[in-house]
Amino acid sequence: MATYNAWRVHEKDGEYVGNIETLDTADLPDGDVLIHVTHSSLNYKDALSASGNKGVTREFPHTPGIDAAGEVIESSTDQYTVGQQVLVTGYDLGMNTPGGFGEYIRVPAGWVVAVPKGWDAHKAMVYGTAGLTAGLCVNKLLKAGANPEQGPVVVTGASGSVGSVAVEILSGLGFEVTAVSGKPDQAEYLSQLGAKDIVGRDSLAPEKKPLLKPQFANAVDTVGGGPLAELLKQIKPGGSVACCGLAAGMQLETTMAPFILRGVNLLGIDSVEIPLPEKHEIWSKLAQDWKCTVTENSAKSIGKEDLNDALQAFLKGASAGKIVLDHS
Ligand code: NDP
Repeated sequence: MATYNAWRVHEKDGEYVGNIETLDTADLPDGDVLIHVTHSSLNYKDALSASGNKGVTREFPHTPGIDAAGEVIESSTDQYTVGQQVLVTGYDLGMNTPGGFGEYIRVPAGWVVAVPKGWDAHKAMVYGTAGLTAGLCVNKLLKAGANPEQGPVVVTGASGSVGSVAVEILSGLGFEVTAVSGKPDQAEYLSQLGAKDIVGRDSLAPEKKPLLKPQFANAVDTVGGGPLAELLKQIKPGGSVACCGLAAGMQLETTMAPFILRGVNLLGIDSVEIPLPEKHEIWSKLAQDWKCTVTENSAKSIGKEDLNDALQAFLKGASAGKIVLDHS
């Protein structure tokens, strides 16, 4: 048993307020592996959990944090040994299981991944769920046959956690990347990540026509909703859109035109429940061929006391780049 600090959210009169509290590891759920969490990573879903979105977190008080990395303290399986550096992303972590915004978590062994060789816990959380998701999007595009010769690839929500990593991976693979961003002040950062063109969100403003001039061979979409519907109209014949997010809305209102007249593929991405071997494949690519040096060098570190403001920025669509929570 040990006491530890966690940023825990309470519900009071319909308001959701997060504070740093001292908790006891004895109160963590049952599980195979007890981890001392040194780092977590901030995601849009954490902001939803912390603001009381019941689709993410049903009961409060609750410790959010869908990502965690640190050291194994206890393990009831020989898959993981005490002292080993590990990471956890997805499954139920931070949703209805206390997550990485606390300094300890206890989870099933099936959720745990060894920190890739050459990385530490901080580096793992620079990527976190967002990096994994960006990698899954790129992997699915490549498996669908995407290649740089086909023409530009577009990334929406480009300055966000997922979008920014997707821009850097794709440009590193030789794709000509167009970044769609609502943040003119992030243009220089997007260029550093390798974006060749940067366009505003108005490039995906609603149009009545079912198809528009095809401009992009392929796409990574992190925003969903209306912008995704418009994006589908601008994809070249046979092209693919890997879609993972809903920052602009859950509802997708489209016509059949892009699918049956241009053979466009809409590829769904889930980074949460997929089997561990699929996650392993992407983690090892991120640690080797898909290494994102600009993202690594520009990630911001914050402490628990900064979480409230940082999560609010996600809800406003104002967050940019990767943010690591450092518990030390
Ligand atoms: P961020 O908030 O970091 O990034 C989202 C970006 O989308 C913003 O930075 C902004 O970029 C853009 N954006 C925000 N609001 C709007 C809007 N109303 N209209 C158009 N663009 C908007 O979030 P994440 O990168 O962490 O996550 C992105 C999405 O992916 C979220 O919906 C998240 O839930 C989802 N997700 C899904 C996963 C999965 O497994 N399927 C895993 C991880 C995330 P800009 O200003 O540059 O336009």
